Order: sequence, then C-alpha cells, then structure tokens
Amino acid sequence: MKSYDVCQCGAPLQFHEQPTPEPIGTEVLLRVVAAGVCHSDLHFWEGVYDLGGGRQLKLADRGMTLPLTMGHETVGEVVAFGPDAKGVAIGDRRLAYPWIGCGACKVCQRSDEQLCLKPRFLGVFRPGGYSDFLMVPHSRYLVDYGDIPPEQAAPLACSGVTAYGALRKLGGILQTEPIVIIGAGGLGLMCLCILKSLGGFGAIVLDVDKTKLDAAREAGAIATIDANAADVVRQITEAAHGAVWGVIDFVGSSATVKLGIDCLVKGGKLIVVGLFGGEITISTPYIPIKAMTLQGSYTGSLSELKELIELVRHAPLPYIPVRRRVLSEAYAALTDLKEGKVIGRVVLVPLG
Ligand SMILES: [Zn+2]
Ligand SMILES: [Zn+2]
Repeated sequence: MKSYDVCQCGAPLQFHEQPTPEPIGTEVLLRVVAAGVCHSDLHFWEGVYDLGGGRQLKLADRGMTLPLTMGHETVGEVVAFGPDAKGVAIGDRRLAYPWIGCGACKVCQRSDEQLCLKPRFLGVFRPGGYSDFLMVPHSRYLVDYGDIPPEQAAPLACSGVTAYGALRKLGGILQTEPIVIIGAGGLGLMCLCILKSLGGFGAIVLDVDKTKLDAAREAGAIATIDANAADVVRQITEAAHGAVWGVIDFVGSSATVKLGIDCLVKGGKLIVVGLFGGEITISTPYIPIKAMTLQGSYTGSLSELKELIELVRHAPLPYIPVRRRVLSEAYAALTDLKEGKVIGRVVLVPLG
C-alpha cells in the first residue's frame, strides 16, 4: 500500500509504502479510484484553526495524530472484506462516507455520526484516500453512486454533503424565499446547484472576487453582490425585496458572520459553515428582539449523503471542472490549492 502522508504539519507530504492491510470483522478494503483534494485538507495539513484574537485550535488536541494519510472524498472499488461485512461484493464501486463516529454513542445511534465526540473520520483520524487503498470500518459507510462519474461523486462526500446539510437546516423557506449565500467558491457554487435541484426559490450570492461572482451568476444566482460594497446590507435587502430569512455563510470570518446577522429579518436564521476563523461580538438583546437563530453546520450525516446522491442521480448537478492528477502529485495539488491556483476540483488518481 502506497500513500502520501502528513508527517509534520505544514511540511511536504512524505511517501510511505507498507503491507496492504487485510480486512477483519466488518471492514471493507477499497482500491482507490478517485480521491478529492479538498480545501479542508489545508486545515488538517496545517493542523490548526484560527480562533481569532491570535488564538488557535490545534487539531492535535482533538485527537489527530501524525503521520496522517489525508483524503476524505474517496471513491473506490471493493477488493476484499472481512467475514462480517454484509451487502458488499468484489468489484462494487462505492463512495466512502468519511464522517464516521464511534458507532455506539447516542449521537451515532441517531445517525449524526459527524457530531460524535469520538470521531473516526477517514482522512482525519484514520487513514484516508491519498493512497492506493482505503480501509472502511463497515459496509454501511459505502454509498452506491450509480452512474455519476467517480470524480464528480467524490466531492459529494464533503463539499456536496456540507452544502446539502446547511441547506436542510433552513427548512421550508428554501422553496418560498430567496436565501443569501456568502462565498462563491467551490462550496457556494455547489450549494447554488443543489438548491436548484431541490426546486428552491433561488439565492443571492456574495463574494469579494468578481470572477467568482461571475461564476455564481452563470450558475443561476438571482443576484450577485460585492461583499465589500459600503451599502452591502441595503443591496442584499433590495435584491431580496425586503426580508432575508436565511443566510448560509461559507466563509466564517468575523466580517461575514457579522454581515450575515446584519441582513437577517426578525425570525431569520444564519447557518455558519466556513472555518476561515475570527470572532464576533453580538449585542445580546438583539438575539431575542430579532428572534434570530445562529446555527453551525459541520459536514452532513450519512443519511443526508444518501439523500443527496439520490437527488443527484435523478437531477445531475452541472459538471464541476475536474483536474486529474496522479497520487504522487498530492503535495503539488495541495500547494496549488493553498495558492488559489485551482479552478473547480483536483482529484487524485492511482499511480500508473
Ligand atoms: Zn459516537
Ligand atoms: Zn472536505
């Protein structure tokens, strides 16, 4: 088994070769077909989140240990499975749900494994897809993606389910009201496309980058607004014809969370997804007076991923540009992403 691993936070990935593990019990071994290089891999690689005010949250304190094989957007082919694995056959091509919990606690029992306090996330706390093989602890985490191309299916395990999980938190207003999406990067565009597939009313999209706003307009945004404009709140409420009931913030900086709160109507909801980092001060009386909901959203559940795959199988999302790079270019793909050189997605494919 060959992999490219984080051995030191922020340092180049190291090549490792070791005997390919044999699945035991309920385990299923996949040969990796496509492994997405995701923006959150930059956080895992650097090992920190910015908490604002010069403070940091270290992933090592959350149980991440090195060396780590990253990669949480993995499509693979079943090559072996343990004696207790059910419902799998050699040759099945499946998308691995990566946000795996302990499987035993109350949170896991109610199918919110992504919120488990003892996470076993693939590519974060267990080896992930920057490898030629991936071990999945149980067949229930394997999702049949039908005839979706593998490189399009892979990102659904992360950016797809993250956008879908955030949209679901806004509930019924999606069909009747315009929502505001802050951040027109990969996640924001994915969110816009899924909203369309869900038959949503539409979205007003904000960003500071004109090219990204153009992409959002092409993807069907009702309106696009420069987030740096002095009268940005006025522009948003005008585009929404008065009331903003739902905002999804895919940036998560001090400025964007504040902006999200500022444009909400009474009873509105702000969903924060982005992990850019920062801190905000809220005048507490506004929480009851505006009857606002401020909710975080972290990836999505296994059942949300299955719902999303069903949705996409019947209403395909617009094709996201994908660049295939061989596994040995994993570190180059990561640094390109850090430097903002990636358009669409990079998917790692096996060594020749
Ligand atoms: Zn659990
Ligand atoms: Zn991701």
